[in-house]
Amino acid sequence: MAARQPDEPARAAAEAMMIRNPVPWPNDARCAVAFTLDMDAESILQLAHPQRAHALVSAASMLRYGPEIALPRILDTYRHYGIRQTFFVPGWCAERYPHAIEAMLRDGHEVAAHGYLHEHPNELSDHEERHFLMRSLAALQTVTGQKPAGWRAPLYNFSHRSAELLLEAGIAYDASLMGDDVPYLLQSASGELLELPSHWGMDDWPPFMHSVELDFQMPIQSPATAWESWWQEFEAMWEYGGLWVPVWHPFLSGRLARWRTTHEMIGRMMQRGRVWFAPMRDIAAHVRRCIAEGSWLPRVERQLPPAADAQR
Ligand SMILES: [Zn+2]
Repeated sequence: MAARQPDEPARAAAEAMMIRNPVPWPNDARCAVAFTLDMDAESILQLAHPQRAHALVSAASMLRYGPEIALPRILDTYRHYGIRQTFFVPGWCAERYPHAIEAMLRDGHEVAAHGYLHEHPNELSDHEERHFLMRSLAALQTVTGQKPAGWRAPLYNFSHRSAELLLEAGIAYDASLMGDDVPYLLQSASGELLELPSHWGMDDWPPFMHSVELDFQMPIQSPATAWESWWQEFEAMWEYGGLWVPVWHPFLSGRLARWRTTHEMIGRMMQRGRVWFAPMRDIAAHVRRCIAEGSWLPRVERQLPPAADAQR
């Protein structure tokens, strides 16, 4: 038996079928990339401390850094590279920061829905979930002049009835779940909702968030350490045809040293080539087209109907 070359294990991994149904991405791209930034601003403070939020001035200043300081910087980077991406925005934040939303739209980015005051759907009643969903969509529509195409549940707190409600509201895709490396369909009583998944490993709270007021204290990582893991995620998605979706926040990832690193890393992704940078709504539309013409078959996951949950 011939001696193994040192790079053989890596080659063997590259040839393995790690993703069983990779998506045929446009223009022969190896993977799709969508930087999704959730512009939560002070909604999370208002939700956590409705009586005291006005007095928590330092925490509020940390969150306001997102729309006021980080957002223009993020938009500059996207303009520099000529890419369009997606922002998930709670309705309350769109009403409070209309200038930030206008700036996103002016550059052709997507503004998608993310609750009204960042409330958690899986802690609400049927009536409340429906109420806040409709309120969040109406607020975004008023500020943007368009109906949002996509949704991400605040803190990934998608409920057992969310798929049905989102379909009824005409939402084209969800971005709250973590069940695959590629898009999949969630089957509900109202039809099939397209899921564009991500996971906690792509979120910037674990490496960057530290706040006593928001009860989330992590040892803060350097941008290089955070990106070491995100880059490995990217390389794997590039290798096997996946979907790379960071779940970030302007007030965290838009901080100076962190965003400078991201600016550099987008350049590296472009040098690598065969990467499709697109807003989530374009990825959703492409996937739907592939399904309609039969060039790609999605995995279908069945959601438990609400009645089954109530009987427990
Ligand atoms: Zn959020």
